[in-house]
Amino acid sequence: MGTLGGKECFAVEVEGPGTASFSNLRMNIQNIDRTLFNLAGRALQVCDWYRTHQFCGRCGQATKESERDRSTICSGCKLNFYPRLSPSIIVLVHKGDEVLLGRNHMFPEGLFSTLAGFVEPGESIEETVIREVKEEVGVNVGNLNYRGSQPWPFPNSLMLGFHAEYQSGDIVLQEDEIAEADWFPCTDLPMIPGKFAISRWLIDEYLSQRGIPV
Ligand SMILES: [Zn+2]
Repeated sequence: MGTLGGKECFAVEVEGPGTASFSNLRMNIQNIDRTLFNLAGRALQVCDWYRTHQFCGRCGQATKESERDRSTICSGCKLNFYPRLSPSIIVLVHKGDEVLLGRNHMFPEGLFSTLAGFVEPGESIEETVIREVKEEVGVNVGNLNYRGSQPWPFPNSLMLGFHAEYQSGDIVLQEDEIAEADWFPCTDLPMIPGKFAISRWLIDEYLSQRGIPV
């Protein structure tokens, strides 16, 4: 995987725990520091990619590891396969002292977050933000402001975080994805994700910009 603090790090797949103990990365995200989380996420993604690229998607023959870089090569047609990343956007929509938060069907009751969605082929990241917000909650946004990113290895996403200003439209839910969404005053937010998540960083940063303690 590389080195961390001068120590070599390796990803190893094992059959069973043996004398070691294992824990679920996603469940422990709040218990480990960000650097270690990103390293463990890298290991998870590389192992998953390697396991799922044993055969060529074009001609079906077995692949082998490249000696040049981190890729596999088809032994028949020589097609190269690299670890796959799926970029997605996550966005805090704001309107002065209010922010737009939604609850996905998969979230527990009462937990609201920023909106998110995957980038489609041929799209710029900015186009994804505008399209996803429009699709999920029906409103138009502009004045996008990129704030930072978080690797999200479940299974292979990279989340790119934005603030976006509300422009027009009423909330209309994409009901198969969003259970509820609403405008919330910055000083009276519902339950939101913990400090480990980029959605929370986006919210906290906006509150700070408005002079509201977080
Ligand atoms: Zn092939």
